[in-house]
Amino acid sequence: MKRRPVIMNRAPSLHKHSVQAHLARPTAGSSIKLNPLIVKGYGADFDGDTMSVHVPVGSAAVEEAYTMLPSKNIWQPGSKSNIPAGAFAKDYMLGLWQLTRERNATSYSVKNLAEANALHKDGKLELNDTLIIGGKRTSLGRQMVMRTLPEDIRNDYDKEITKKELGQILNSVAKNHSQDFSTIIDALKDLALQFGHAFGSTISINDLDIDRSYRDKILSHYKAVEQDRWTDNQKARHWLNAQQQIEAAQNAYVKKTGKARGFYDMLESGAESKQDSVRQLISMPGVKIDVYGKPMPMPITKSYAEGLDQASYWMSLYGARKGMVDRAINTEQSGAINKSLLGVTKSLLVVEADCGTEDGVEIEVSDTKNLLDRFLAKTIPGVGKAGTEVNNMMITAAKSKKMQTLLVRSPLTCETANGVCQKCYGIAEDGNLVAIGTNIGIKEGQSMTERSTQLVMKSFHSGGSAAAEQDVVAGFPKM
Ligand SMILES: [Zn+2]
Repeated sequence: MKRRPVIMNRAPSLHKHSVQAHLARPTAGSSIKLNPLIVKGYGADFDGDTMSVHVPVGSAAVEEAYTMLPSKNIWQPGSKSNIPAGAFAKDYMLGLWQLTRERNATSYSVKNLAEANALHKDGKLELNDTLIIGGKRTSLGRQMVMRTLPEDIRNDYDKEITKKELGQILNSVAKNHSQDFSTIIDALKDLALQFGHAFGSTISINDLDIDRSYRDKILSHYKAVEQDRWTDNQKARHWLNAQQQIEAAQNAYVKKTGKARGFYDMLESGAESKQDSVRQLISMPGVKIDVYGKPMPMPITKSYAEGLDQASYWMSLYGARKGMVDRAINTEQSGAINKSLLGVTKSLLVVEADCGTEDGVEIEVSDTKNLLDRFLAKTIPGVGKAGTEVNNMMITAAKSKKMQTLLVRSPLTCETANGVCQKCYGIAEDGNLVAIGTNIGIKEGQSMTERSTQLVMKSFHSGGSAAAEQDVVAGFPKM
């Protein structure tokens, strides 16, 4: 078992992370136990999911399986900031955040870590209380996290770690210390688990027992301004504005009173990202969508915590039902698009190093994110030579020359016969050129359709709230 990985698959197989190889270990019981770090790639959760397990037999199959280990596939195709392994699931993110956030700023000042540890042992200092150690304000919790990181970035993360910071850490480790990636992320995961458990976090009835006068004040103002002659659309927009204002007021209220912290801990740590759901629960669901996906002109003004009256309940049903129907229908459609898209692109390979074209696409100089990792199509004196990788210095030089756009290589204008060249494709997410023979058609096709499938699911999970729905309605059917 140590020498033969097994290949696991979870349907729907949307991208390469739906099929991965693992070095399995026998455990008690009859269910499969997963490392929490890989669940996002599979899209797996623990409510009865099934996975198939395949055992490679021939030596070539075993060899190929080794290239499919999660540690060899840390980058999510088509995205430079997002790595699937980097997705700490909810409780883990919460644990890491609780360990590093500042609970109390104490006035202790000690010379070294040993003295700080002694204070902690005597019960005078919590792990997430900050103090001065050797002239710098930090906390024992932060020091624990920093010790797991490579030395060159360690000191940049002497701070509260939310999902955003964790993303930066993992990105930097994956780029510059890819050999150590799995050890580091495992160490962070263990810390997160240990302290997520130790600190604990919960929501209770007290989180729902809040003073909602901030909401009622805004509602009565908007009610007074509303005009009967307005169209449904105008009314819906009017109430969407009110909803937005209430969300801001709710944030201010929580900040001031410290109530409903259970929800806000999850939001602030990045363990949960749906501000919309919290508003629906504690302030009001607001504007819902009808069966056509259009926002309704009347908001639901009582929160789910207080309970809905009968009329509101009926209004909320349309969106909820639409979500369920859409999920069934659109997932299928999205799968069909996936299939036809891959049918067109599946034979697109990287076949040579450089086609030597001077053609390309014009990209605005201000669009730095899009320019980096591409190659210059023509030599521009004072900026760079043709066929060199665009870097920040070139962009600065182009800006100082008052250039509006740069002509860069693109697969669209590649002159390679039967494929694309390395230079026109550009730098891949791991910072290197892609190997000749790489099937970029499959890779790019899947980066797009995996996303569109998730977008469809989002409509279901938002429960028909108009605010969360807007980009879904505009997004998928449009495509
Ligand atoms: Zn080319």
